[in-house]
Amino acid sequence: MSLSNIRVVLMHPTHPGNIGAAARAMRNMGLRRLVLVAPSGFPHPEARARAAGADDVLDGAVVCGSLEQAVAGCQLVVGTSARTRSIAWPSLDPRSAAARLVGEALQGEVALVFGAERTGLTNEQLDRCHYTVYIPADPEFSSLNLACAVQVMAYEVWCAAAQSAASAPQNVGTDAGAQAASSADLERFYVHLEEVLVAIRFLDPANPRKLMRRLIRLFNRSRPDNNELNILRGILTAVQQSQTPAIFDKIPRESQN
Ligand code: SAH
Repeated sequence: MSLSNIRVVLMHPTHPGNIGAAARAMRNMGLRRLVLVAPSGFPHPEARARAAGADDVLDGAVVCGSLEQAVAGCQLVVGTSARTRSIAWPSLDPRSAAARLVGEALQGEVALVFGAERTGLTNEQLDRCHYTVYIPADPEFSSLNLACAVQVMAYEVWCAAAQSAASAPQNVGTDAGAQAASSADLERFYVHLEEVLVAIRFLDPANPRKLMRRLIRLFNRSRPDNNELNILRGILTAVQQSQTPAIFDKIPRESQN
């Protein structure tokens, strides 16, 4: 079974020990690709000690500056959260999330994202996730240690991979041959969409957050493929062109006929 298309992203981990323990948890379950977004201390001897031999995961860890960079090229991004929020993001239980990650990893890159120890994932970071996952726990004490959360999810991924090894790739609901749009392409689409919504005065730039969040949630839920995204981008461009003074306005009337 190949888990090489699955990356584990730790957002702003503050304790080097947790990075090491997460690396160990990953390696136990066949995951090797670790991405660290702005870690407080890395590399660090404590990370090395807690990795207990999973040195290849630490040595191969990619350090970057933002979630966007961390999930670049991913067609599926799953965020984990110990909290319930006012605007509910599409969610999956750990087992279904793992099955989906493993299924889509047969076709392209996918990411499993974890928040910082103290703050968890911000709303803006969750906006970039197609799904959120909550590991069921005592509601009065539901926040797991970061590396423990990685362990639970990595175990589910291992089990899902073992189960899917013999079965056919999952149908993710896109046209045959069409690939789900990557995070970077979706990101560009959201920027374009916001630009057009402001231009047609549907979106007030003074108060843009909630509308864009809801729209991003809608598109994340529908998981457009590349062809569909091209159609949407084409529509936005057509709207922009219809906004600019028509070229015909500048052409003498008689030559328009
Ligand atoms: N105080 C933070 C908890 C951070 S724990 C908060 O309230 O969100 C660090 C990370 O571990 C979380 O961001 C999440 O990625 C993961 N995690 C911890 N407990 C979890 C749970 N019950 N379900 C899913 N992820 C969890």
